[in-house]
Amino acid sequence: MAEGNCAHKAPSLFFPSDGVGVERAKKVCEGCPVATQCLEYAIANRIDHGVWGGTSERQRRRIIRARTKAAREAASRPEALASS
Ligand code: SF4
Repeated sequence: MAEGNCAHKAPSLFFPSDGVGVERAKKVCEGCPVATQCLEYAIANRIDHGVWGGTSERQRRRIIRARTKAAREAASRPEALASS
């Protein structure tokens, strides 16, 4: 985060209580050079609250669900079963 667009912003900006606040925080994340790492950190650590990597809590839940579903589908493909 020391290298992020938020380095000199108040942390509270990234823990908004409404949609307007979420959009305000996401604007700061736009073009952030470490947005990908920030997002992956939040996902890997199951951080539920706040805006991370330009995503809202809801968006991260969707990403996690999509990745989980894709992983399950990949694991159930015949070629995956044949090699296990
Ligand atoms: S993506 Fe957003 S929250 Fe993450 S480091 Fe960048 S500005 Fe900060």
